[in-house]
Amino acid sequence: MKLLWGDIHNHCGITYGYGSLKNALERAKSHLDFCAVTGHAMWPDIPDRTEETAFVVDFHQAGFEKLRAHWDEVAAQLAACNSKELVTFQAYEMHSSEYGDHHIVSPSDSLPLIYRDSPAQLKEDCKVPALTVCHHIAYTPGYRGINWDKFDETVTPLIEVCSKHGCGMSETAPYPYYHNMGPRDSRNTVYEGLRRGYHFGFVGSTDHHAGFPGSYGDGKMAVWAEEKTRESIWQAMLARRTYAVTGDRIECEFSVNGAPMGSILSPDDDAPRRIEYRVKGCYKLDKVVIFKNLRPIHIDEGLMLFPSPDDNHYKLRIEMGWGNNKADLFRWLGNVTVENGSILSVEPCFRGRSVLAPSSTNTDGFDDVNDIDSKLLEVSAQRASWQCFSVKNVSPLHPLTSSVILELEGSPETQLTIDVNGHRQTLTVKQLMEGGYSAHMKPYHSQAFKVHPIFTETEYSVSGTLTDDTHGGKDFYHMEVYQANGSCAFVTPVYFG
Ligand SMILES: [Zn+2]
Repeated sequence: MKLLWGDIHNHCGITYGYGSLKNALERAKSHLDFCAVTGHAMWPDIPDRTEETAFVVDFHQAGFEKLRAHWDEVAAQLAACNSKELVTFQAYEMHSSEYGDHHIVSPSDSLPLIYRDSPAQLKEDCKVPALTVCHHIAYTPGYRGINWDKFDETVTPLIEVCSKHGCGMSETAPYPYYHNMGPRDSRNTVYEGLRRGYHFGFVGSTDHHAGFPGSYGDGKMAVWAEEKTRESIWQAMLARRTYAVTGDRIECEFSVNGAPMGSILSPDDDAPRRIEYRVKGCYKLDKVVIFKNLRPIHIDEGLMLFPSPDDNHYKLRIEMGWGNNKADLFRWLGNVTVENGSILSVEPCFRGRSVLAPSSTNTDGFDDVNDIDSKLLEVSAQRASWQCFSVKNVSPLHPLTSSVILELEGSPETQLTIDVNGHRQTLTVKQLMEGGYSAHMKPYHSQAFKVHPIFTETEYSVSGTLTDDTHGGKDFYHMEVYQANGSCAFVTPVYFG
């Protein structure tokens, strides 16, 4: 199967949010395999409008109205964009204090915009194939976090476990919630849903509000699909053959008795269970943990992964951004040429501007806010080049840098010539394994870039097989991957029963 990357929950100026839909789709096409753009459509149990709630109620209503007025053109634009390069899905979003926020996603270009009180009614009455995804689930019950008491896995087979809002896996997961919607709540985590015996697949999405689907660091979903087509990706979603990443595109395979992530197997089979997994990260691994019923049964510890003399695959990350000018886009042009080795792939980690909700009563589109033409220009065995744009970091703990990650084949003697905006250096893999370097564009408070140390395959890859010698029973097994740079992957369980 093919590993494909997408974002089926993000926003732009078609409702409250910023940036044109046209630019959003261009951004998606430049670095994703599939996407949806989810207009905010309704909030059936929106709070009463009082002096205190007027701002919240008004910007939501204005956004819903905007989508209603333009629905036909929005849906037509999404449909017209569906291609071999970028597979699109139709979608829109329902807020709900009672059920938690959901977005409905459909492979049908005739998904109608209808208004209902619950995700189940929405799915049933739209009369086309559709599913709903519950998102930012860990908010306080009643405050648009999930309501596990009313959860229906036949309506909502996928749960968004991480996004720009933070990570809702568990109380101790990285990326706690710090949006103005409030903190994470133990009662509404992914672990709580699993404890209750529900079956669902994990996905990540950006929930970006300035029209940059897949913006790096906000969350993405992976699917294992037969082909890169709408039908195959749809089938993968229905089968829960999905997982979530917070940032880097960590490759994960996970199966039990040969059945991939998302499978539901018989609890009566009393043969020993054979768990197989493979992880290929994008940075030095911190740890890989295999869980049975939320208890760790196996850990690969990153501190124990050392470069081996046999290694001939490497990852090199070049990160660009910083600077002191908040509004202006800074243009980066970079390239790497390789001697006595080759480039196997390049992963783009491009970011848009960071926006999660309107900051004033102005819900207009600011159409060009997402006119950010970051892209890979050339990838061949000997040379890779790219163009990307950055804005100032929001704060020292909230970076807006963009990166590229090169996967290389070679030896410690392989020579790399790295050129970023005219700053050129030639170094060997061996030198870059000892440490990276950084450089500034101007004397001080300036845009800058960083060439990270090179990591070798034994530092970023693990695989294994374990046997759980049990004799049947309702259990579930899942995997979590943590990299030393904070990027994580949360892999959907295989369920028994
Ligand atoms: Zn949303």
